Amino acid sequence: MSKNSNRRVLAIVGGGFSGLALCYYLLKKGGDVTLFDGGGGASKMASGLLHPYPGESAFLSWKGIEGMKETRALLERVGPEVYKETGILRFAVSEKQRKAFKQRAEEKEDVEWWDKEKCHAAVPGSAYLPGIFIRSGITVHAKAYLEGLWKICEDLGGHLEKKKVDLDDLQGFDRIILAAGGGIRSFAAAKKLDLRFTKGQLLVCKKPHYFTGESSVTGKGYLALSENNDQCYLGSTYERNHTTEAPCLGTATDLIFNQIGQFIPSYGSFEVKGCLAEMRVSTKDYRPFIGKIDENIYAITGMGSRGLLYHAYFGKKLAEEVMGCSSSS
Ligand SMILES: Cc1cc2nc3c(=O)[nH]c(=O)nc-3n(C[C@H](O)[C@H](O)[C@H](O)COP(=O)(O)OP(=O)(O)OC[C@H]3O[C@@H](n4cnc5c(N)ncnc54)[C@H](O)[C@@H]3O)c2cc1C
Repeated sequence: MSKNSNRRVLAIVGGGFSGLALCYYLLKKGGDVTLFDGGGGASKMASGLLHPYPGESAFLSWKGIEGMKETRALLERVGPEVYKETGILRFAVSEKQRKAFKQRAEEKEDVEWWDKEKCHAAVPGSAYLPGIFIRSGITVHAKAYLEGLWKICEDLGGHLEKKKVDLDDLQGFDRIILAAGGGIRSFAAAKKLDLRFTKGQLLVCKKPHYFTGESSVTGKGYLALSENNDQCYLGSTYERNHTTEAPCLGTATDLIFNQIGQFIPSYGSFEVKGCLAEMRVSTKDYRPFIGKIDENIYAITGMGSRGLLYHAYFGKKLAEEVMGCSSSS
């Protein structure tokens, strides 16, 4: 197929962070792109936490600097209304974390050590624990960001179709790129990637009136600011053995309050308004995968819990690979 023999005709399956970032970079490189999205997916419900110091010891993520740079550029492209650049506070909930966090604050220019009084003053209702303030931390309003990217892709000439597709529907495209999140399980070509699928849930809560913190906060679990000032997200669960992929309020509340209680003992005053669930996709080494998986079929997957950190960087890289290949390859 070629509507125009000089332009590569491309199909992307999935309009989450990965698919939309990829779509943007393919369009910038002159691709003729149609993106199909069946609805749902992890990106639309992600809490929006973005910083490069995850994990128990807050080590700098692999490709953390590069990821932050590319994501920031895309956020700026969409506009300031889709994110809050107010930093992220990480409480140290164990002695091991206290040591690791102190070290990180000494090493990293964008990380500050905060004593327990300063942390408590910043987060009313929290426990007296020290922590690190990650100045470069950003809270992204995921839905608004996706809508903004979708609009930019349309303006660049992308064709966007809200429907679920399989490979039979996509015959005639020069290249097909799977950015399908948990939906990648229905594509046989992706079996060889040996992916892991973990259910994640979060609680949508009404913020108590006294909670006036301006940054998202993490400890064990997290409180993420929402685009709606009256509410916040409390998360999240990592469930390998689940009986359903649907939201399960009882399990989510038990697991999340148990974590949150370690640094926000006043969690009982957060009124739970709803519960959301989706699947995280990870590779064996917890690094994203991009590349060719079959004749003319590519994938971008394995974003795990760091979709915001990695989608733009790897979307851009895959766009270069897809557009750089000769049409016979
Ligand atoms: C509870 C929870 C909280 C999270 N919080 C954060 C956070 O704070 N920060 C962060 O960085 N990450 C977070 N994540 C992880 C983040 O959401 C993922 O890494 C990211 O969303 C993955 O993006 P993706 O585009 O690869 O997949 P997805 O967002 O899952 O997108 C896949 C898309 O493909 C579409 N699709 C699938 N199959 C088909 C098909 N056959 N036809 C058409 N369309 C199809 C789906 O409709 C979906 O829109 C969280 C995840 C969970 C579960």
